Amino acid sequence: ATIGQFLRDTAQRFPDRPAVVFREQGIRWTWQEFADEVDVVAAGFAALGIVKGDRVGIWSPNRVEWLLTQFATARIGAVLVNVNPAYRLAELEYALNKSGCKMIVCAERFKTSMYVEMLQALAPELAQQSPRELHIARLPHLRTVVRTCDTETAGMLCFSELVEMGRVARDSMTFDAIDATLSAHDPINIQFTSGTTGNPKGATLTHRNVVNNARHIAMAMRLSEADSLCIPVPLYHCFGMVLAVLACVSVGAAMVFPGEAFDPGATLAAVSDERCTALHGVPTMFITELDRPDFEIFDLTSLRTGIMAGAPCPVETMKRVMSRMHLSEITIAYGMTETSPVSFQTSTTDPVEKRTSTVGRVQPHLEAKVVDLSGQIVAVGETGELYVKGYSVMQGYWDDEERTRESVVDGWMRTGDLATIDADGYCNIVGRLKDMLIRGGENVYPREIEEFLFRHPKIQSVQVFGVPDPKYGEEICAWITLRAGESMTAEEVTEFCRGQIAHYKVPRYIRFVDEMPMTVTGKVQKFVMRERMIDELN
Ligand code: ATP
Ligand code: MG
Repeated sequence: ATIGQFLRDTAQRFPDRPAVVFREQGIRWTWQEFADEVDVVAAGFAALGIVKGDRVGIWSPNRVEWLLTQFATARIGAVLVNVNPAYRLAELEYALNKSGCKMIVCAERFKTSMYVEMLQALAPELAQQSPRELHIARLPHLRTVVRTCDTETAGMLCFSELVEMGRVARDSMTFDAIDATLSAHDPINIQFTSGTTGNPKGATLTHRNVVNNARHIAMAMRLSEADSLCIPVPLYHCFGMVLAVLACVSVGAAMVFPGEAFDPGATLAAVSDERCTALHGVPTMFITELDRPDFEIFDLTSLRTGIMAGAPCPVETMKRVMSRMHLSEITIAYGMTETSPVSFQTSTTDPVEKRTSTVGRVQPHLEAKVVDLSGQIVAVGETGELYVKGYSVMQGYWDDEERTRESVVDGWMRTGDLATIDADGYCNIVGRLKDMLIRGGENVYPREIEEFLFRHPKIQSVQVFGVPDPKYGEEICAWITLRAGESMTAEEVTEFCRGQIAHYKVPRYIRFVDEMPMTVTGKVQKFVMRERMIDELN
């Protein structure tokens, strides 16, 4: 199915059930209302000359305009380009030009206009042009800018104007005729990776990639129309748009958005007020929710399931989430943007020990293997690079044949992650190939040291990485954040390690910090820490 058909089927099955709640924007729509609104926006896009294959950028935090643009572009076969809400000028220019966006929808709060100001800085000639037919020197592909607004901005259309145009055009639109030209194998989305290890890469995904992945994850979670999912993860990322939104569409579960950007209090309040049955998050989100001093005032008894994914899920956090947040059925998923995203997942039928300490087993219809540097499959239980193959592997990186060739080999996606798979098929993510360090000839996996230090009661979070060292090749650094009100010395950390982990794994440099450098998807950017430490040590 295409994404558009997917939504229409659900709207036909559950027209009057709740579909979308945006708490900050005060929006509550049923599936019928949502699907109708999508058609109006799709007609608006078509009226502005957007056709199959055109790229449309969406630059927005979690707002309803994001969802409408996601489904409206899919409805007419346009390719959605998710522009990172944290981008600034140079990154925006690169993303729009690289993907060749003909239109960009930027949605920010009324009365704020940071995105608009950035666009005006990039394209000063906007102000003198007709908003229907832009010609901008630095953005040669761009023809239209649509923004959320309560006042007019020269050269830009308001989202409300787009909706008005759509309402007029809607009745003469023949969606069936458009449908006949669409195929599930068409690219529908250029989705950028998180940028955890460097610059984000634009993965090109098809309807088939994402729709099927959403169906499988919904099955693993036993999600149904009776569920309502709280979505604090960003829509810009596959976690939000596939594992949250499309998974809900696949079964008719309600989507509840607590706010534009992640806020632990707003998230817990949304679960509590809306009686949500499911909650998604990356590990850091769950940790900050659990650590709130007012945690106890929220009623989380309605919760049952959710997904923890995106980064290593500490066993301790999994256990606390299961017991203290009532998430007894929570699923760990492992995946990457390039595989739409999930390739491994736990399910409720797995033993609890596997559900907290592994990323589960390979998803149906996918294959996986763990290989050594020469590409040979390693023995069961040995560590190597994880490769994944099947329906979910991206078409490639947009307009980047070279990197695609390096990453997808004979249909196998090289994940860049180190993993082990046991005799029963359960997979353990050992860390990223890029993060592994070699100290004095010994392979050191930061994840192992992180899991160990995380057990210390004063430590709230810890990140371990390597820096170059003249004697050992690399030395181990640990950055630590402490729980509220705690203090700690580097000696205490070293003492804690003594006799517990091998001497060569004990971090040489220990720093206490207020926060870690993060991507908008809530992942820690070790390359930024490494650069800062190298500066400090030199
Ligand atoms: P970039 O590729 O731009 O550096 P990124 O790899 O973080 O960023 P994503 O596609 O968002 O971009 O994330 C995929 C990566 O996240 C995986 O390759 C893996 O390293 C990590 N990851 C995802 N889920 C898990 C998990 N459950 N356990 C451990 N690591 C995970
Ligand atoms: Mg990656």
